[in-house]
Amino acid sequence: MTQDRQTCPTCQTDTVVPVVYGFPIDDTFEAAGRGEVVLGGCVIDDVPWEHRGQQEMRCTSCGKTTWVGRARHGSRGGTTEDPA
Ligand SMILES: [Zn+2]
Repeated sequence: MTQDRQTCPTCQTDTVVPVVYGFPIDDTFEAAGRGEVVLGGCVIDDVPWEHRGQQEMRCTSCGKTTWVGRARHGSRGGTTEDPA
């Protein structure tokens, strides 16, 4: 079972790659050149608050954006306990 590839909910292809924010390093540029990632730009604050902590994924076939990972739901504005 591989979770490396997401399937696009729109066009059902597996050409869904992570969107990488921040200043891209050489490896990121190379990965983008291979179509393995999409460069999302340098402004990380563009991520909507409800998707913070999630990974933005984009279908390179149809451009559909999806989000994977931990979804913030339920306790909006609740306390954040960090058992460190
Ligand atoms: Zn698609």
